[in-house]
Amino acid sequence: MVLRFKEIKKGHVNIYSCGPTVYNFAHIGNFRANIFADLIRRYIKYKGYKLTHVMNITDVDDKTIRDSKKENLSLKEFTEKYTKYFFDDLKTLNIEKVEVYPRATDHIKEMVKLVKKLLEKGYAYKADDAIYYDIKKFKDYGKLSHLNISGLKAGARVCQDEYDKEHVNDFALWKFWDKEDGDVFWETELGKGRPGWHIECSAMSMKYLGDTFDIHTGGVDLIFPHHENEIAQSEASTGKPFVNYWLHNEHLLVDNKKMSKSLGNFYTLRDLLKKGYSPRSIRYVLIATHYRQKLNFTFESLKAAENSIKRLDEFMVKLKDIKSEKNNKEIYVLIEKAKSDFEDAMDDDLNVSIALSVMFDFMKKTNTFIMNEQISKKNAEKAIALMHDFDSVFGILKKEELKEEISKEIKQLIEKRQKARKNNNYELADKIRDQLKEKGIILKDTKDGVRLEKVSTSK
Ligand SMILES: [Zn+2]
Repeated sequence: MVLRFKEIKKGHVNIYSCGPTVYNFAHIGNFRANIFADLIRRYIKYKGYKLTHVMNITDVDDKTIRDSKKENLSLKEFTEKYTKYFFDDLKTLNIEKVEVYPRATDHIKEMVKLVKKLLEKGYAYKADDAIYYDIKKFKDYGKLSHLNISGLKAGARVCQDEYDKEHVNDFALWKFWDKEDGDVFWETELGKGRPGWHIECSAMSMKYLGDTFDIHTGGVDLIFPHHENEIAQSEASTGKPFVNYWLHNEHLLVDNKKMSKSLGNFYTLRDLLKKGYSPRSIRYVLIATHYRQKLNFTFESLKAAENSIKRLDEFMVKLKDIKSEKNNKEIYVLIEKAKSDFEDAMDDDLNVSIALSVMFDFMKKTNTFIMNEQISKKNAEKAIALMHDFDSVFGILKKEELKEEISKEIKQLIEKRQKARKNNNYELADKIRDQLKEKGIILKDTKDGVRLEKVSTSK
């Protein structure tokens, strides 16, 4: 059966992606989910839709409270620190910023309102330690994960060691304060306490995207119970469908094993950068497997990605160097075909591995034209434009930041140096060259003029 995507509001797509709990550095499995959300986002834009994309930041829960105490920081100081690391990592991986990053602690009011509504409608009950969601009241519970809870229900009251809830899968909407929470609590109509985790995603997604929105993403590990619970909370409170399309990315494995600290195969982004791998090749590996397949991460795949990236870089440089005026119509046919094959692949449930192979195939065929000198400058410009179109989705090509980032001051210096060289004032020219070098800009004089190379400044 072919499922055609159809947005609720014409020309505009609303997406919600479950974001990080900010209590440590995110690992590459987390980034698979982020890069998948980035891929969807970029392709939706490629297709010409406008979008509002929301990703929550969980900055209050058991773990953030526990670890902020360990580091002797206030919850806010602690979570701000890891939120910043998370954003730094997103930037490193060339993951686009989404429109809204709501923090849980900024939306207590919305969550309280939602819990009150669930209490009023009879979907929640108050126990000694928390307000719980009563899953047996929501008849659709289990529809996303196809979980059958009837077996669990049979025993009426399930005995739990430390919780007062009635059913093993009932979950806390609002946790009453206890001494472990220290100074982390909110005095609200529900009592002194803090929100449960699931309620934040329901409250914040609906606040920014409406009662029903288009796409919700997350890792498969979130299907149950997190997303099941989001549906239960939202649909019980509004009486409307919550989400039209759920997209879950599969797990990431390392050397075919589940990543874990005890196996020694646990990597954060920073671990890989320290080993000398480039952000672009890490992104490439994380993006290249179809989201519904398990991604087996290996260092061989990372090395292969480094090679692929290098080939792409060389191809782009070659295209830019083409000077011939002799046009070749075949190139245009090739471009059209590649573009439509790329879109066919991405339209087919975001089949990114096929889409990437279309790009590499285009590169291979164009390289043959280049080798045989059957390509003009104009042809090459069209090929470059196509590569940039592809890359608006993949995000792996070298950024042409030099052109954009050159400040006015640097431009003036370069012009001044050109003038000095023209007037045979090499002393001044060299002095300016050194000045630029201090700013991290290296000039190379080639027969076609000056070429800029940026050196990395280790500041
Ligand atoms: Zn969530």
